[in-house]
Amino acid sequence: MTEQLYYEDHYLRSADAVVTALSDGAIILDRTIFYPEAGGQPGDRGTFGPYEIKDTRKGEDGEILHILADGSAHPSIGDRETLTLDWDHRYFFMKEHTAQHLVSALLFSDAGIGTVAVHHGEDGFTIETDKAEIDDAVLLRIEDSANDAIRRRLSVWQDEVGHEEAESLGMRRSIKVSGRVRLVHIDGVDVVGCGGVHVSSTSELGEIAYVSSERIRGHVRTFWKCGERAVEYRRLNASVLRSLSVIFSSEPENVADAAARCVHEIQQLRHDAAKLSEKVASLLLEAARGKTLDGKTVIFSSCVATRYYEGLIGDDDGLVIVADEEGRFLFHGAKDRFEGLRAAMPGIRGGGRGTFYRGSFEGSADGFLSACRSLFSGNGRIEKA
Ligand SMILES: [Zn+2]
Repeated sequence: MTEQLYYEDHYLRSADAVVTALSDGAIILDRTIFYPEAGGQPGDRGTFGPYEIKDTRKGEDGEILHILADGSAHPSIGDRETLTLDWDHRYFFMKEHTAQHLVSALLFSDAGIGTVAVHHGEDGFTIETDKAEIDDAVLLRIEDSANDAIRRRLSVWQDEVGHEEAESLGMRRSIKVSGRVRLVHIDGVDVVGCGGVHVSSTSELGEIAYVSSERIRGHVRTFWKCGERAVEYRRLNASVLRSLSVIFSSEPENVADAAARCVHEIQQLRHDAAKLSEKVASLLLEAARGKTLDGKTVIFSSCVATRYYEGLIGDDDGLVIVADEEGRFLFHGAKDRFEGLRAAMPGIRGGGRGTFYRGSFEGSADGFLSACRSLFSGNGRIEKA
């Protein structure tokens, strides 16, 4: 059994250890400062002498596996080397994990909200709660309480007690281990069973920011940031708000209303533009029909998108080909004629069914239409002069 030095001192960054076993790309040591992934807290990484450890996990029998980097050479059983933690990685997640304890504790004590699951990431941590709805005001109040706990520099400490004693404490979270239980205390705020690694004072967390919440599996999942991530988040928000204030010529507190008005105006303009495009399409189609020699073949270019013609062309029409300035075309005619067009111009893409086909072409609309006229009129002339 590997001696877990990380429980004796969470701040130990290096220690000597001896290889006791090898296991498929991983090594097992007599002692370690590397915490194996558990409880949402990622496993440690770093080096063992010249060997790079990319992750630490628990094996099926509870052994602590130090996973060697891909392509790394293996040490031999009995080798003694110095373990060195990637301390930035470890300390970041020690802070984030302790912040999660603090927020979960306050959610429970201040608002009766339980924690169902947690996740730690480089970008922040999530707490899935046992509630289907939570008002944002409640979560902002918890954020205030968490930052107050940080300012009060509360001690965070661990001890180990018997199972019965742990049960008698009536903790917010049920005990998941048998035998003796490791407890994590935040002075005056929380005590809970946890086998993770934690900082020793809430002051190390810097600050905590509530970011957002969403519904998942019928529960509210809340998203938080701690320390430097919270600072980055606050600065990013301030920077975005300053930019939007300039764009909308509006005070920060009025930016959301200004943006909503702008979106409404854009929707109105799009609606008006669509109406005008439909009208223009109708006029262009009418003019093109009037210019046909045979009364059946209408081939023309359009300054509005071909989709505006779809409702205007019907069973009474013969062959209609319209191309727009975006390189799209609408084809109304028999399937064999459309297949003839595709065979003659392999560069075009598109498809459809019945008498309607849609597609796109490379190059200019004039070039495409001129090729269509040659193909379907024989002599290339299908329009009145
Ligand atoms: Zn913990």
